[in-house]
Parts: sequence; C-alpha cells; structure tokens
Amino acid sequence: MVKKSIEILDTTLRDGAQAASISFTLREKIRIALLLDDLGVDYIEAGWPGSNPKDYEFFREIKNYSLKNSKIAAFASTRKKDVRPEKDQNLLSILESDVNSAVLFGKSWTLHVKEVLKTTLEDNLMIIADSIEFLKDHGLEVIFDAEHFYQGFKEDPDYALKVVNVAGEAGAKVVALADTNGGTLPHEVMEITKYVAERTRVKLGVHMHNDSGTAVANSLVGVVSGATHVQGTINGIGERTGNADLIQIIPNLAIKMGYKVLKENESLKKLRTVSSVVYELAGLHPNPFQPYVGENAFAHKAGVHADAVMKNTKAYEHIDPTLIGNQRKVIISELSGTSNLINYLEKIGIKIEKKEEKLKRALSIIKELEARGYSFDLAPESALLIVLKELGLYEKFFDLKYWKVINEDKLALAVIKVNSRVEVAEGAGPINAADLALRRCLVKDFPELEKVKLTDYRVILPGEVKNTESVVRVTIEFNDGDRTWRTEGVSTSVIEASVMALTDGFDYYLQLNKKLKPLFLKD
Ligand SMILES: [Zn+2]
Repeated sequence: MVKKSIEILDTTLRDGAQAASISFTLREKIRIALLLDDLGVDYIEAGWPGSNPKDYEFFREIKNYSLKNSKIAAFASTRKKDVRPEKDQNLLSILESDVNSAVLFGKSWTLHVKEVLKTTLEDNLMIIADSIEFLKDHGLEVIFDAEHFYQGFKEDPDYALKVVNVAGEAGAKVVALADTNGGTLPHEVMEITKYVAERTRVKLGVHMHNDSGTAVANSLVGVVSGATHVQGTINGIGERTGNADLIQIIPNLAIKMGYKVLKENESLKKLRTVSSVVYELAGLHPNPFQPYVGENAFAHKAGVHADAVMKNTKAYEHIDPTLIGNQRKVIISELSGTSNLINYLEKIGIKIEKKEEKLKRALSIIKELEARGYSFDLAPESALLIVLKELGLYEKFFDLKYWKVINEDKLALAVIKVNSRVEVAEGAGPINAADLALRRCLVKDFPELEKVKLTDYRVILPGEVKNTESVVRVTIEFNDGDRTWRTEGVSTSVIEASVMALTDGFDYYLQLNKKLKPLFLKD
C-alpha cells in the first residue's frame, strides 16, 4: 500500500525568526536552510522581503547552493486595496526575490476585512484572487495562508469557506488554514477542517500557533481531518508562545500515523541534530523535556523503570529512541536501583548479576553521597568509580597527596603532588591552574591524558542538604575525541570540589583505558 504523503513547509527562518530575542545572521540562515534541505522538508519559507529588505540577501545567496530536496519560498501579504498588483510593493518584492514559490497571506475573517483592511467583503475576495493570479502569471506557484481562518470561520463560515474557494480557483496550489492567534482547540480544528475539506477541491494545509499549548495536536488533527500540508518551525520557535513544532509533528506523522513525510524515512534520524543546531543558532538552551529529541525524552531514573526497560524497552518507551537520533539514558541516582548501575556497566563492557551483593553496597554508598549533596544525574562516571571500587575492578594508578591553589591579585597558581612528583602551574584562573598542574604530574606516566579535554564546567548550589553546612557541587565534562564522561565533586569550597571532579575525571579515563579495556579486549 502506498502511504499518503504529507507536505511539510518549514517557516523557522520567517515565522520562527519573528520570535522575541531571536535573530539569525545571513550565514546562520544559510546554514539552517541547508540543514532543512538535507532533512528533506518540501518547502523552506525563508523570509518576508517586503517587510525586511535584509531577506533579499538570503534569496540571492542561497542561489549559490544547489538544494536537493526543498523549494525556497518567499512570504508576502496580498496586494494593498486600491493598488494594482503590478504596482504593489509586496507582490513586487516576491518577484525581486527571484523564487519559484510564494506564500501569500490574506484575510478570511470578516472583522479583519472590515475593521483592519477597511474594505468590503467582495473587494477582499478580489484582492486575494488577483494577487494570486499575478504571481501565477509570472510563473510562480502560490501557497495561500488564510489568516485567522478558524476565528473567521466561527463568525462567518460561509465567507471563510468562500475565501478558500476563491484562492483555489485563482490557482493557489495549497490553501493553509491558519490559527493565527493560537486560540483554537483540537476538537474545533477537527470540526472546522472537516467541514471545509468536504466543500472544497483545493489542497488544504494547516498553520498553527501554540498559544493554547495545542499547536502540535491541532496540526495532527488538521491532517486527520483532511489537510495534506503542514506548516511549522523547528523546536516550535515563533512569535509569542511559538508555532507548531515540526520536531514533534514529523515523527508523529511518520512513525505513529503511517504517513510519508520528508523525502526519505531515514532522515528522521537527523531530527535531533537539526533541533540542537537550531537551538544553538537561536541562542537558546535546548529544552531537556522536549518530546522525541530532549535530553530527558528517553531517560529512566526510577529503579523500577530502568529495570523494566532492560527487560523490554517497550515497557516505558513509546518508540525506539534511535529512530529519531536520540538515545536511551539510564540515570544513576538515589531513586535508582541496581538495574540502572548494571545498564551503565554493560555500556563499558562489564556484565554482572543483578543479585550481586557488592552492587547493592555500591548503591547504598551512592545514596548516602546523594544525601550529602552529590547528584549523579549529571555525573554518572563519578558513581561508576564507586561501583568499580566495590566490585574490585578498580586499580589505584595515582595518589593525590597534596594540593594548594593560590588565587590572588590576578595570579592563579596551583601546586600539586601526585605520588612522588610535585608540579606547579600558572593558569588563566584557579581551576585552569589546578588542571594544568595535575596534568603535568600525570602525563609522564600516562601520556594518553594529552588527548583529554575539558568541555564543560558547572557550579551548582544544591540548596538544602541534610546535616551539613552549605556546599557547592562542581561537574566537569571531559572528552577524548571519542567518548564523553562527566564527574563531580562536592565541598564547601568551589576549588576543592573542582579538584575532586578533575581527579575523578582523569581517574575514570585511566580505569577505562588501562584497567578495563585490556580486560575485554582479551576475548
Ligand atoms: Zn504564523
């Protein structure tokens, strides 16, 4: 059976860029467009040249690239009243963009026609028809966005429907029903979209905003009710509370509802990367709770969950996380059980029985440390060091005998003694000095540590901790070009906590490389 296709129009670069605090440079826009093309969306709505002349640069620049999947579209309003199409700046701006596809928006709500446009209902239909025809005559395909459609429909269904049919008859390839202020709920979208789909022959689309928190649901319901074109943005960025999030819509349509979306099904695996690059370029922190792609989307913390997922992943996962480029994460914490630890150990090649007493002992040490301000969610490798010690798999490669960090008068100096070697280092700050001195002590015996880089450093104030004075928690992320790991230290002093996290980070790497790797390379 051939799957029904749903066309995707991405408007991250137009509606998305209208979000508060987001502004993309030309280079960033090009990068996002290439990413969207590679993902395989059908249309990239890339700008509104009539309102933002800077968008011309984008339309010129993108011509230097050959896109393999997506068509580039420019956005504009229908012509002004009393202005002929060939004299209308907005329509001319689309021709100047030199694109083959245009998205035109126009009025479908009588209130807007009468009070905002200040014209007659008949005249508005003429405006829509001859704006579309003008662009069609110049060889463009036109997608018509019916602004405030759902609200307009509630007030005057006959007129709203007439707008759809007039746009279709004028040659619009798609008429997208827009919930411009995001106030419509899914059951209303279903009723209204169905009504329209039964009374028009033009291909319908939906353009939803998230003001009621239902933009994704509204888009899916729109499809169920007859729309075959969906507009949205990556991560749902957009004006106010944003647009419908394509990162959620696309997998729902493809994986759950069996539609053909994107040029290739394999592209679904790119969703997580596309999401994170757009967050980065938008200057936003990724949302860890974002469905499908969030850091926590497949994280299991409670012991019973981790245990069940290890028996059968379907127990607590709605899809296989790798389908959309995400991965399962089992968290070690005071809430977890031995299953969470086993899962981590398996990842580094150690198989162990769940009933193992030593494992239970390790878990009780972990829980006790969490009560004292540790939180292994963010630093599982510090917890793994404890487990390795309890299991007798740990080997002491070095002994931190003494350390002192001096941080005064713009001078950051660290003195560190490891085994019998003493090293001093000056750094850009106290943590950098400690890192450098510790490395100097270690690299002669362990040159592999040269590859290890610090990629993230965070200080967290854990808040209330039982029976202790106030402490800070430092987590450090390390990377050797291949693998990433995170460790932590907790102390009343930031520097001491940092030295603990640094020591753990290097220690973990040596355990993995020197102690554990040779073990599982043997068989
Ligand atoms: Zn919009």
